[in-house]
Amino acid sequence: MVMTRITGLILALLAVLLTGCATGPDGFLKEPLPQEVTFWQPWLLNSVRAPYRKLYVEVDAVQGAEPSRAWLDEMARFLKTQCDKPDGVRVVASDRIPPAEAASASITSLALRYLDGPPAGSAFLYILYYNSALNPALKTSNPHAVVFPYPCAVFVDRNYNEAGFGDVLGGLILKHEAAHLVGAARNPGHGDGAHCRNRHCLMNPAFLYAPEMVALGMVPTPQTEFCPDCLADMARWRTTPAPANLRFDGPFLSRREQGYTVMTLPNTVHLHLGSTASLPVAQMREAVRQAAAGPLRSREGFILSVSSSGDPMTERFALQLAARDPAAPVRQAAKLYTTARLAPPPS
Ligand SMILES: [Zn+2]
Ligand SMILES: [Zn+2]
Repeated sequence: MVMTRITGLILALLAVLLTGCATGPDGFLKEPLPQEVTFWQPWLLNSVRAPYRKLYVEVDAVQGAEPSRAWLDEMARFLKTQCDKPDGVRVVASDRIPPAEAASASITSLALRYLDGPPAGSAFLYILYYNSALNPALKTSNPHAVVFPYPCAVFVDRNYNEAGFGDVLGGLILKHEAAHLVGAARNPGHGDGAHCRNRHCLMNPAFLYAPEMVALGMVPTPQTEFCPDCLADMARWRTTPAPANLRFDGPFLSRREQGYTVMTLPNTVHLHLGSTASLPVAQMREAVRQAAAGPLRSREGFILSVSSSGDPMTERFALQLAARDPAAPVRQAAKLYTTARLAPPPS
């Protein structure tokens, strides 16, 4: 029997990989999204009916930062309309995270600890509501969808409120973020590949917001709907086959390549060398939970790790292929592993 071993969980704080894409004052990207974000089209797992005929949305929240049921219902209606999931879309309010824990934990740590993942046979979105005001080490941040390395997660800081904006438009904000993860505005024909240039579209990077309308009982933004271009994007994705090498393995979003598999979670990239018959899903889950409770507990970081189930020759071949992967963290993991393999054993 070939044992799968997880070689040293390498915790690297890789600022280059972590930073979001640079945007100009108008909120649009200064450069196109990197290839590692776009080439594998992971949003198609959520858009089309194969291989997953249903979509499961897990919503975790720090106590006191919970989204309203109305916001979740609005998102559920949106996903049911814009994704081809004949067996349904289920939005589940899952864990309530104690504020005492959130007061000193990094966002990565909370996500890696509480994210449970989808039941078998479902595509998956993960949503975490928190409040950066609880933790002096956190900065306030915009609500955002993550497009790499785990392009199925949304993080909403309830402390980002801008005089009521976050609470008043919470449902639209959530819909905007979820739409990122089902391919809205991914077409650079009417935007930058992430957001839409139509000023009145829900996928524009900025909301036009008139707070005085709230007192009058009116909707304080004209951006309540997707423009025809964004609707056309999502319609096109619904009929575009998802890449056959993508799937969820437990909570991991996995990409199978010749000789190796790339498994991701928020801020986590695991490279498995060799046969997929022995993917170390449970071991990886445990290793990531330990990292969330240990080194990542109070500071943001990026996990890179490698496992192998092949003989040395298979492994060498897989490493050569992984060293040319389109995603930088995969190439980096292959390099670190190769260096560690060549190093003399500790005496
Ligand atoms: Zn956005
Ligand atoms: Zn649009």
